[in-house]
Formats: sequence, structure tokens, C-alpha cells
Amino acid sequence: MAGTKSPEDAYTAAPFVPEGADLGALREAAAGCHGCPLHRGTTQTVFGAGDPDARVVLVGEQPGDQEDRQGKPFVGPAGKVLDRALDEAGIDPDETYITNAVKHFKFTHVPERGKRRIHKPPSLRELSACGPWLEAELELIEPEVVVALGATAGKALLGSSFRVTKERGTRLEGDPSGPARGALIVPTIHPSAVLRADDREAVYEGLVADLRVAAEALG
Ligand code: SF4
Repeated sequence: MAGTKSPEDAYTAAPFVPEGADLGALREAAAGCHGCPLHRGTTQTVFGAGDPDARVVLVGEQPGDQEDRQGKPFVGPAGKVLDRALDEAGIDPDETYITNAVKHFKFTHVPERGKRRIHKPPSLRELSACGPWLEAELELIEPEVVVALGATAGKALLGSSFRVTKERGTRLEGDPSGPARGALIVPTIHPSAVLRADDREAVYEGLVADLRVAAEALG
């Protein structure tokens, strides 16, 4: 019925985000977040990591299977692709901060793949529920450039009408009331797209080209 609220409307991390906290305290608090149902069945919250004074922050979609087990973002194969691409584009991976728009691993099981956990994209409501963590991270770090890795990160930073195919490799102004306010946003593909592509080399080169736009914006 039009106007009826679903239980998902109440999803939000906001009550779990402590005011005035530094990154360490935010990370500790996020470990206990129950702002949406995605914490159920996972190993742990995967908070952002890296240089707290970074000039560039990279935002992905959500942790994957390896990240969920290890509790760190981008430690799986996609993270290795990203590190190589950053380096090639002229951005030192050690001088970045990396996080995800959603801090818990969303997955499903399919009978033919046994117990293996298969990645499932977060819904817009789950994305919005987790937004207060991303906003708090960006507010503390105050990066000059935010790289949106893939469509979900782009929607978290630029709104639900964002299309990665159209806007990748460009410099966009963050909405003054959005999570990346004050920073330039450079969207690109998620590095896992390289691993899924038939022509990995071409897709990888596209990722590097987009990251060069971010490197040039840093000057
Ligand atoms: S996905 Fe985000 S909002 Fe949902 S429980 Fe995890 S940390 Fe909280």
C-alpha cells in the first residue's frame, strides 16, 4: 500500500556512531553495529584501514569472503589488482585510506556451489543504512580526492542515479550535503571487474587510466 513503511525503512547505523570519536573509536564501535540485518551470519565488521592523513580515500562496495574472515578491506585478489593499478597510476597504496560503502559481507548460497558464500550486492536501503560510517570516516580524514570503486560506491557518494559506465574517469564535485563534501570524486570500476573480464588486460588498463585522473587531481 502506498505510504506504508517497510521494516527496512528503519535500517540505520546512526545510533551506533559515537560523536566526537577518532578513527580507532569508530572502528571499535562499528564492531558492534546492528544497524541493518547484514551483520547476521558474518564473521565481523570490516572497517576502513590505511593512512588516517591520506589525501586520497578509496571506497569499494562491501567486504568479500576473504575480507570477512580477516577483518580487513581489500585483502583478497581484487585488493592485489587495485594495489598494482594504484602504483602504476602514480598513487602510493601506503598513502591511501581504503574502505567500503557497506561494512558487512552480504552473501547467498547456491546449491550447486555447496557451502561457498557467493557475493550478493547490497540493496539501496542497506547502503543508506551503512552511510553514517562512511560519512564519519570521510569527515575525520578530509581527503582531497575520493575514488569511487564501482557502481555501489558511486551511489553511496553521488546518489542513486549514478552510472559508472557514464561517469567513470571524470572529476565530480561532491554534493555539499553528501558524505564526500569538499572532496573531488573520481569514479572508476571495482577492481574485481578486472578479474571477471574476458579481456583482463584491457579492463585493467581502463582502471589505471581512471586512477591517473585521481593522481592528476592530487597534483
Ligand atoms: S552493514 Fe553497516 S549498517 Fe548494516 S550492520 Fe553492518 S555496519 Fe551496521
